[in-house]
Amino acid sequence: MPEIVIATRNHHKYRELAALLRLREVRWRSLEAFPDLPAVEERGRTFRANALKKARLIARATGCWALADDSGLEVAALRQAPGVRSARFSGRHGNDHANNAKLLRLLRGVPDPKRDARYRCVLALASPETLLAVAEGTLRGRIAQAPRGRGGFGYDPVFLLPRLTRTVAQLSAAAKNRLSHRAKAAQAMRRLLKRLVASEG
Ligand code: IMP
Repeated sequence: MPEIVIATRNHHKYRELAALLRLREVRWRSLEAFPDLPAVEERGRTFRANALKKARLIARATGCWALADDSGLEVAALRQAPGVRSARFSGRHGNDHANNAKLLRLLRGVPDPKRDARYRCVLALASPETLLAVAEGTLRGRIAQAPRGRGGFGYDPVFLLPRLTRTVAQLSAAAKNRLSHRAKAAQAMRRLLKRLVASEG
């Protein structure tokens, strides 16, 4: 049975990905089993570059297959910013409130039809020798004029799903997990992984 390390120290993300990717033929491991690994800097120019770099590095360092992700927000009116800088858009890493405030400030006066945005997630799977698979998921929406809702994290309070007339922060966790960019990327990766495991066996 292949063992696959999920290359994140975020326990919430680990559990979410392991659940979305569940396959009887795979044993998932968390990075907690490998406390001495080097930190991976996410400084690539694309989500794909960051996910590939992390998967390759963790696979080589652990000797196992490794699955890594990178994700973020792209806003059409801002030439796809914040993109790979989503977590540190305001200058302080992981300050969701400041990131959302900066986004709304930059979009002040931009009318609704020009506020299109998308969340993207790229998942990469590597062995210690090579890259095995890459999958991507996208969620399209629009940046709201003001934040709404208390659920989710990051840009969810300002990420509006026009068809639902709600922000992602107004959805339940289960509803978000059915339509999110991460869920879509995980579904695509699950199909690729099934084939890979079958051909290995
Ligand atoms: P990472 O993939 O964990 O590095 O996330 C990058 C950043 O993108 C996060 O810090 C958030 O700002 C943003 N982001 C990624 N996925 C989501 C999401 O599902 N909701 C809100 N923000 C997200």
